[in-house]
Amino acid sequence: MAGSKCTRLSGALVQQLLDTVDSILFDCDGVIWRGDQAIPGAPEVISLLKKHGKKVFFVTNNSTKTRKMYADKMARMGFGVTEHEVFGTAYCSAMYLKTVCKLEGKVYLVGSNALKQELEAVGIQQTGVGPDPISGVQVDWANVPLDPEVKAVVVGFDEHFTYMKLNRAMQYLTDPACLFVGTNTDTRLPLEEGKAVPGTGCLLRAVETAAQRQAQTVGKPNHFMFDCVASQFSLDRSRCLMVGDRLDTDIMLGSNCGLKTLLTLTGVSTVAEAEANQNSGCAERQCMVPDYYVESIADLLPALQG
Ligand code: PLP
Ligand code: CA
Repeated sequence: MAGSKCTRLSGALVQQLLDTVDSILFDCDGVIWRGDQAIPGAPEVISLLKKHGKKVFFVTNNSTKTRKMYADKMARMGFGVTEHEVFGTAYCSAMYLKTVCKLEGKVYLVGSNALKQELEAVGIQQTGVGPDPISGVQVDWANVPLDPEVKAVVVGFDEHFTYMKLNRAMQYLTDPACLFVGTNTDTRLPLEEGKAVPGTGCLLRAVETAAQRQAQTVGKPNHFMFDCVASQFSLDRSRCLMVGDRLDTDIMLGSNCGLKTLLTLTGVSTVAEAEANQNSGCAERQCMVPDYYVESIADLLPALQG
């Protein structure tokens, strides 16, 4: 089984791979669902993996839902999952501020209501969620009122993002002691029929550009997403598999953390892109080559049903 990477996973190889892993981390969008639709066969795959004694986890860069919201969404789609198995960047960012940064003080939040809820769940207060209260043209931009208790700026997906929010974030970040955390750097969110919308990475870049500072990002490919799972469940990383649809986030996370990696073709990245990385002769791009690929995670079904 050892040998070349980017191998198509089918037939007897599926069982051979499953025998070498105890835990499987699934990316969400493009892997187990697309938008509001489960990938056909995905609920059965998850249920059978659990039946075979595998631990399963869900790691998503999407910061617009709490763990509870994800568990509810998955229940509606037919997945039997608890919120403790879901690690989204809203929850992981709250954990990061609490456990790694040991933040004492408030957050200026450019982000969703879900992110606010996850922060509050670990005892961190925020200001900033929702539309900014000040608008209009007669604003003294450089002297907007700031909250002296704010000790960190957090940037996630924010549908209310405005020039005023960008300005406030920048004003807070002129203090070098103010922490700067981003949920994730995904630049585009792909939709059906080749359409896409701007992702959180665009908002984060705007704040980074204004503040002339780089944020610490929590989401994939940063290893913190894996650390967060590993800190709560005993995981032997040599017996973990990371399944994802993106080479630059999911597969890179798996490679960075020493996990086995599986690319599924129901989302963003293609085999051609994986092979281009593999054949590039560039050492840095090898972490964006999966060990295996499948058309869909439904390709695991025959081995699990057998
Ligand atoms: N961020 C947002 C706001 C999204 O809507 C999505 C996908 O829907 C993502 C990130 C990427 O999520 P995932 O890591 O599950 O692919
Ligand atoms: Ca994805």
